[in-house]
Amino acid sequence: MKVVKFGGSSVADASQLRKVTEIIKADPQRKAIIVSAPGKRHSKDTKTTDLLIALGESVQVNVKNQAIYDQVIERFASIVRDLELDQSLLNTIQDRIDNACKLIESDIHRGMDALKSCGEDGTALILSAYLNSRELESSYVNPKDAGIFVSDEPGGALVLDESFEHLNKLRERDGVLVIPGFFGFTLDGDLVTFSRGGSDITGSIVAAGMKVDLYENFTDVDSVFCVNPMIVDQPKELKALTYREMRELSYAGFSVFHDEALIPAFKEKIPVCIKNTNNPGGDGTMIVAELPERDGHVAGIASDSGFLNLYVSKYLMNREVGFGRKLLQILEEEGISFEHAPSGIDDMSVIIRDHQLPEEKEGQVKERIINELKVDTISIERNMAMIMIVGEGMNEAIGVASKASTAFRDADVNIDMINQGSSEVSMMFGIKDHDLNRAVQSLYHAFF
Ligand code: ASP
Repeated sequence: MKVVKFGGSSVADASQLRKVTEIIKADPQRKAIIVSAPGKRHSKDTKTTDLLIALGESVQVNVKNQAIYDQVIERFASIVRDLELDQSLLNTIQDRIDNACKLIESDIHRGMDALKSCGEDGTALILSAYLNSRELESSYVNPKDAGIFVSDEPGGALVLDESFEHLNKLRERDGVLVIPGFFGFTLDGDLVTFSRGGSDITGSIVAAGMKVDLYENFTDVDSVFCVNPMIVDQPKELKALTYREMRELSYAGFSVFHDEALIPAFKEKIPVCIKNTNNPGGDGTMIVAELPERDGHVAGIASDSGFLNLYVSKYLMNREVGFGRKLLQILEEEGISFEHAPSGIDDMSVIIRDHQLPEEKEGQVKERIINELKVDTISIERNMAMIMIVGEGMNEAIGVASKASTAFRDADVNIDMINQGSSEVSMMFGIKDHDLNRAVQSLYHAFF
């Protein structure tokens, strides 16, 4: 039995949904189908979810943007029309959008999540109806009915353990089950969405709950590349990688798969296969618990910009009990989450995503650190990028760091920070944003 997830570009219009239908029909093991909201049809297009968010924001300030509203409705209307489905389907979708807009007026968070969910919900209703029209028995299953229970964190829900038992019962249902991705319900019955890109999370949760043999994740690329193809032209494709490698890679810029989505599949040891809706015959990339063999020790190079380095130094910091905790506590109290905290004898850096510490907040945070920790120096350096070299084989290999630093030198890039994760599956380098592409290209040539 398989759980299959189709991403936004796979369900962007009627012709894509026809391909999806062929893929589902081609393999009777494909039992539960998770769908995203209609994504981009071409590079200048806007994702339905982004349209819904813009619509919701306009409702929040009491000037509902009719043009955006019409655009959203037309996205669904054109699909319903092209697939020759019943008009009543469009009415159902439109009613849900209208109700969500109304809810925003009384409760912004609940209303926004309800509105954001309309993209995936509409796709699921349409796909299920279309499968039935193509003589494949199918039903739309709402996440509440499926038993996807989540924490009450609007726009950032986490799955609750009780979901898995409920989801297991889906195995016994007849026909193909079409479930909208991206949202679940609190135990009190309120709709809450996952973070952006969260349909991958739904797929992984459903796969884990149903204890299937394979979780197929269909997107618009043939496989996962070992480095961002926007930075390196036609990089090597990865046939297979481990859960740990994928988790590390997707954290830092590998956008093929949501970085929170792996854990449920990983816990149940369900292999994940990333495939292309436009080339379903291809092998794709397998994500598994253990790899048989690989040439070389490095699986991939991930990179992401938009970080800052908060640096503090204080003479004899190493003898001050609780310094690190107090520093992190100030961040906690200011609602700032941090990514890494490498430290020296008399100094400590905290790497933070830029948006976590906006410039307006900088003065206040610095002042607290100076007053409460009596540091000698403090600085905040923005425009930093992180590069992560990832590979299971690295923990026993000699010379990976040396090869990497040579590659940085060859590209004339200064390394600001080095951090090797305790798992030794990854090595991280902090550099300046403007050096990123050059550094990644040089590393790619060194390792691949
Ligand atoms: N539609 C949602 C988003 O754009 C979720 C997803 O596509 O996975 O974030």
